[in-house]
Amino acid sequence: MSESRKITLNESEIPTHWYNIVADMPNKPLPPLNPGTQEPIGPEALAPLFPMELIMQEVSQDQMVEIPDEVRDIYAMWRPTPMFRARNLEKMLDTPAKIYYKYEGVSPSGSHKPNTAVPQAYYNMKEGVKRITTETGAGQWGSALSFACSMFDIDCEVYMVRISYDQKPYRKMMMQTWGAEVFPSPSEKTQAGTQILAQDPDTPGSLGIAISEAVEIAATNDDAKYSLGSVLNHVLMHQTIIGQEAIKQLEKAGADLPDYVFAPFGGGSNFAGISFPFLKLNLTEGKNIQCIASEPTSAPKLTRGVFRYDFGDTVGMTPLIPMYTLGHTFVPAKIHAGGLRYHGAGAIVSQLLADGLIGAEAIDQLESFEAGVKFAKAEGIVPAPEANHAVASVIRAAEQAKIEGTSKTILFNLCGHGNFDMLAYQDYFAGNLKRHEMSQEEVDSAVSKIDTPTVESVKEMLMG
Ligand SMILES: *Cc1c(COP(=O)(O)O)cnc(C)c1O
Repeated sequence: MSESRKITLNESEIPTHWYNIVADMPNKPLPPLNPGTQEPIGPEALAPLFPMELIMQEVSQDQMVEIPDEVRDIYAMWRPTPMFRARNLEKMLDTPAKIYYKYEGVSPSGSHKPNTAVPQAYYNMKEGVKRITTETGAGQWGSALSFACSMFDIDCEVYMVRISYDQKPYRKMMMQTWGAEVFPSPSEKTQAGTQILAQDPDTPGSLGIAISEAVEIAATNDDAKYSLGSVLNHVLMHQTIIGQEAIKQLEKAGADLPDYVFAPFGGGSNFAGISFPFLKLNLTEGKNIQCIASEPTSAPKLTRGVFRYDFGDTVGMTPLIPMYTLGHTFVPAKIHAGGLRYHGAGAIVSQLLADGLIGAEAIDQLESFEAGVKFAKAEGIVPAPEANHAVASVIRAAEQAKIEGTSKTILFNLCGHGNFDMLAYQDYFAGNLKRHEMSQEEVDSAVSKIDTPTVESVKEMLMG
């Protein structure tokens, strides 16, 4: 047999620590602001919503944070995840590039999201929390958290956007199988939901409304907390086990360090997960690994947005976060990669982009599905529509390597499978997907609606 396709590690090689890139960043991320006073908020402001250990991780400057044994034990149900050399894809593209991918679709819910759902549920359990609330759009985050809560006997309440609840029943059933209660949002469980239903009983709902409902329950019940699946510093940190394993696996395969690391980008968690351990090598050992986020052309906050303070949610309830954003009221086109339809990016990835330490490119949804189908034919796994954006970036880089005749090493994060996303593939095959790129007028109009403080004004305030 020729060089192995699949590069695996033993259970004992599951990382013992998460990597906190803040420790190595030349410019630290700026603090979140209270939306009312526009003053920096301290950890105590988050206490009604999150357990203290997660709040401390959110503001931690420690380079490595130990993973509790109980969490590593549950990680061992699917970790270390396999890495594959995509030899069939290389052959199909006739490229001299070597393509490797890390596959996170082997987790119980089929994506990288349980990597953070499990520690989040664990710390809540340790602090006596009995119920966790969250929102979900298409259902990937809701199913990861439902699984994690079932591991620690915590009740899980998921507010699922009404239209997904009706149109995508399988994710809902999966959550229910793990014991979660799933409510179509808006619901009559909350004041926020009740008010909106009174105005418009037939509303399809939105992620913003679902967040409002989940936060309201957590804020008004002592035994309940809230949980988020992306964007926040502690969420990104939990995902760094992906990249740490990948470094060991490339070493084991006798491969070079990658020239490029690609990952799809919604709020930044799976991108951070695979890329931050490689960025550590850039920041501390002078390596030059290009880490590039693949975002959709229909929600291009990294490539066309502004670096500005903005709300994390669409309603305007969360703290203000320094982020690349298209404005929190921006509503992306209804492309099928639901996990990438977010207006902003986390504070850490935004600072890294502003400092030129990471890159980004935007991919149209047609190019992304074309890439995903090629990948599935070559490698067998049908990628999640989100992951297709990274596959498209990989194919671009591999074709460039062919033109240049250079043998680049490329790594990407196949962050989830698409087995529950067949409707999206059906629409693609039926020719129903259209190219979608925002016009400059649309970008200008979205960005002009932002009325929150600029990054420069907050820097001046902090110094003065
Ligand atoms: C949630 C999700 C994303 C987007 O979120 P990130 O925080 O940017 O990773 C991308 N892909 C999949 C499969 C997801 O479930």
